[in-house]
Amino acid sequence: MRFPLSMIAGMASYIARNKLRPRAEWQRDKSAARFPLVLMLEPLHACNLSCAGCGRIREYEATITQKISVEKCLAAADECGAPIVSVCGGEPLLYAEIGPLVAGLLARGKHIYLCTNGMLLRKRLGEFTPNKRLFFNVHLDGLEETHDRCVERKGVFREAVEGLKAAKQAGFKVSTNTTIYHETDMREIEQLLELLEPFKLDGHMLSPAYGYTSVDDREIFMTRDDVHEKFKDIERLARRFRLNSTPAYLDFLQGKRDLPCTAWGNPTYNIMGWRSPCYMIADGHFQTFERLMTATPWEKYGPGNDPRCEHCMMHCGFEPSAALGINSRAGDNLRQLRWILR
Ligand code: SF4
Ligand code: SF4
Repeated sequence: MRFPLSMIAGMASYIARNKLRPRAEWQRDKSAARFPLVLMLEPLHACNLSCAGCGRIREYEATITQKISVEKCLAAADECGAPIVSVCGGEPLLYAEIGPLVAGLLARGKHIYLCTNGMLLRKRLGEFTPNKRLFFNVHLDGLEETHDRCVERKGVFREAVEGLKAAKQAGFKVSTNTTIYHETDMREIEQLLELLEPFKLDGHMLSPAYGYTSVDDREIFMTRDDVHEKFKDIERLARRFRLNSTPAYLDFLQGKRDLPCTAWGNPTYNIMGWRSPCYMIADGHFQTFERLMTATPWEKYGPGNDPRCEHCMMHCGFEPSAALGINSRAGDNLRQLRWILR
């Protein structure tokens, strides 16, 4: 992900500190110093849309009307201590106390990505104050016709674009988040980025879809080879637009370098507890972060270890590996520096 310089400097010292002195109570074994980089916080799973590729609204159908209190959300952020919090769901702007939750996270020095479908952005914007550590991350899966088809409702694209324009005009930082499916036409994604250019957004995240077992339409998901093919031209796009992915992760998406899964770097907390092992797979939920870290058999997951991981190239599993410098190469630091400065 691409972040402001202050965030990158803070993250670099956080990583160095945790590598040097790993928290003993989080270590299952001595194979790696494990610690969280980004907390995926899901205060609720209710949503005002029902997108075709969404695992959440299907997996958590039984608890979809429940939500976590602000106090419990903040306690989870304190418990894990990750410097970045991605507030997601469900639709977080349906959460009545989203303003106090974001204020509480900012008061703790967190950098926040509030991931939204944009439908309520204009309506609820007044509940937030612009802050260089707060980003609205708006979900857009293509141009109008494609996006509205993906989310299965007409008018969503227009409302999301109106929402991001209003947020930008009000002084907020705004990025977009696009999921790439089997049927995604990458030329259309380029057109989408061109269309958004005049709004001077603060970054774009493109990530391959994960094949949730709870989603019936398996045709929409990709194999690893499909992902390499889709992302083969990504460096050209990265030169034209502000893509939020690190150069090492982009190499990985193109099949130019291997990265191991480091799902522990990106833990998820929701109404059921700490989801194990990752944002995509739920083999269980733990009631404490320490238990998630020490009771999850991390070595059993990742490509080559679990068939459900075979085609996963999601940023939640592999961006932490890139950020941690795993499988780094000569020249990486220079590329990373160029990417930051650009
Ligand atoms: S907007 Fe997000 S949470 Fe809601 S249905 Fe779509 S993908 Fe799922
Ligand atoms: S590869 Fe890692 S992030 Fe992907 S599904 Fe498997 S455990 Fe989760």
